[in-house]
Amino acid sequence: MSQAVDYKCPQCGGSLVYDATRGAMVCGNCGSSFDPAQFQAAGWERAAAAQPAAPPAPPPAPEGWPPAEAGPDPLAGMVEYTCSSCGATVMTDPTSAAGSCPYCRSPIVVAAQVSGQLAPDLVIPFRFTRDQAVEALNKLYRGKRLLPKVFASQNFVDEVKGVYVPFWLYDFDARVSEQYTATNTSTRHAGSKRYTTTYTYSAVREGLANFRAIPVDGSANMPDVIMESIEPYEVSEAVAFGPSYLAGFLAERYDVDSKQAYPRARERLEQTGGTVFKSTVTGYQTVRAAASQVTPTREEVRYGLLPVWMLTTIWRGERFTFAMNGQTGRIVGDLPLDKGAYWRWMGGLAGISAVIGGGVALLVAIL
Ligand SMILES: [Zn+2]
Ligand SMILES: [Zn+2]
Repeated sequence: MSQAVDYKCPQCGGSLVYDATRGAMVCGNCGSSFDPAQFQAAGWERAAAAQPAAPPAPPPAPEGWPPAEAGPDPLAGMVEYTCSSCGATVMTDPTSAAGSCPYCRSPIVVAAQVSGQLAPDLVIPFRFTRDQAVEALNKLYRGKRLLPKVFASQNFVDEVKGVYVPFWLYDFDARVSEQYTATNTSTRHAGSKRYTTTYTYSAVREGLANFRAIPVDGSANMPDVIMESIEPYEVSEAVAFGPSYLAGFLAERYDVDSKQAYPRARERLEQTGGTVFKSTVTGYQTVRAAASQVTPTREEVRYGLLPVWMLTTIWRGERFTFAMNGQTGRIVGDLPLDKGAYWRWMGGLAGISAVIGGGVALLVAIL
């Protein structure tokens, strides 16, 4: 059985959550605040040491469950753990790394999902709070007359989720070699005639370039359009990962590994490399890349968790989805998502559930 870590206040024993405004662990009971780094050392090391390096195997189905004609097992692939606050046995989706206990609402971090081989190298902590995310969304719609009135009212947001999304961040040193075709055109008039002359040039650029933290998401379910629309993240402001940053938020671990994500990183490297070098070909009216070669000479990858606020609202039976970069506050509205895929992903994030009576009844708690 997996272990769930609930960070306790040393003053009063209340549950601690990470506070985005103060950059500290804050007690919901007495209001005391603590340095997150303090908790990495104490309770965490112990919890992490007890975990296997690989994700735990799904628990075997209890005997007699599911009943013969019950259809697919709703608990298949789920991970079982014990809430350290109330002792309840709860189930979670195999990729959930943080959430809250469906019984006592304590914020929990699932140790096995963020330790050993699954331990992130870095995390960008939330800088914007839930209230700020809602306020930003209201602002986005203020003064836009054509939008339904519901968007301008204060309480239209149905669901707000702070999610840490797993990301691979690739560093490349690369040799870039590009050829361009450039043109300049001039026109002169002689009497009633007009003469147009086009000069065509060939330009070459070659050099070494460093690319840092090219992001590729590590979640199979998460629609790429969400993250790509709220980029960039300032990775230089990331901190060494500590699980206490996740307290009070939702978090997922990766299920696409760095090898599987690599082709997308190379694609982005080639696009970026081409753009950077092309911008140095100046003094022409047109510049077109004729050939391009980007050859990495050194590669490195880090695993990070990036903060996102997801906001949804329902209007006339239709859901509208918004995302905010939890570090920079950049917000984008209504995302052109594949709604089915999106809700499967959101459903997975909410997938911490409670098991009652030895697995006879299943209660799903939506966080
Ligand atoms: Zn306290
Ligand atoms: Zn609990």
